[in-house]
Amino acid sequence: MEPLITEPHRILSHPSRKTGVSSDRSSSLGWKNKYVARVWHPAHSTTLAGLLLLITAWPAPAQQVAEPQLFSQSAQAVLEHDFPSPDLSYLLLDASGKILAERWPTPPDIAQQAVSPGSLVKPFLALAYGEQHGGRFPMVRCLGTESRCWLPRGHGNLELEEAITQSCNAYFLELASGLDRQRAAQTLARYGLSGPAADASADNMAGLGDAWKETPLAWARAYLQLVNEQQSPVQSRIVKGMLDSAKRGTARSVDAALGRNAALAKTGTAACSHTPPGAADGFTVVLYPAARPRLLLLVRVHGVTGAESTRVAGAMLRALGAGER
Ligand SMILES: [Zn+2]
Repeated sequence: MEPLITEPHRILSHPSRKTGVSSDRSSSLGWKNKYVARVWHPAHSTTLAGLLLLITAWPAPAQQVAEPQLFSQSAQAVLEHDFPSPDLSYLLLDASGKILAERWPTPPDIAQQAVSPGSLVKPFLALAYGEQHGGRFPMVRCLGTESRCWLPRGHGNLELEEAITQSCNAYFLELASGLDRQRAAQTLARYGLSGPAADASADNMAGLGDAWKETPLAWARAYLQLVNEQQSPVQSRIVKGMLDSAKRGTARSVDAALGRNAALAKTGTAACSHTPPGAADGFTVVLYPAARPRLLLLVRVHGVTGAESTRVAGAMLRALGAGER
């Protein structure tokens, strides 16, 4: 993997970065939609090439200070250019939680800025459950529709890792039932999350329903903290589930774009919050690279499922130079 933060020139160093999807991959991904612009503006590359010259010409101390800022400017420019669709909202953070690039329409009313991202809440439900059960998790049998899962035929018997990987509703509904909500709120507060109101139904703890809302930045930073704590037993199991989600679970389009074991990811499908409403809003959070994440990308794509939104997230990270081998 190439370091993304310390080498901003990677953004431009490969011709395929024009579209974010190299020509040899676009067919296998079936990636042909409005979210990836196919037109490269020469004026843009000139501007960014100028930034590169600036970087290489500067003495080392100044360069060290300036590079993250230049990466941020370059990343914002590339994403704005390559992913202009108004149906896409995104937030790109570095490992410290600083915003590198963003486009997330923010209503003036702060209460309306918060979003309920469907199954993106599941890892935090698991953290709260783990704290109340001595770090032990059940095995749950998912019967599909009968168990209120999104997969009609069901997932069968699941442990925590696989439940994260497959984003199984049955598993997390089981964790949510009987959870001490007050104690859960204390756990969530440590991740900067306020959690659903105490009288909201338990379903909301599992990402069903829209009563659990947080700002996009709060969700993103909570994920950073979770991954930073992966030395802890419960957190490490959740992170393993996210690694496998990107490899073969609901977020598998991420590794399809970036390479095997490239990233940690989680998907969520939520009721659409737009006017006029679409079928759903798809959410994906990706942390890249998997081994020691330096970037977190949170996307919301209007009108698609969470699993479909992962394609956009993967393409965006490709556009920033991720996944090169
Ligand atoms: Zn299931």
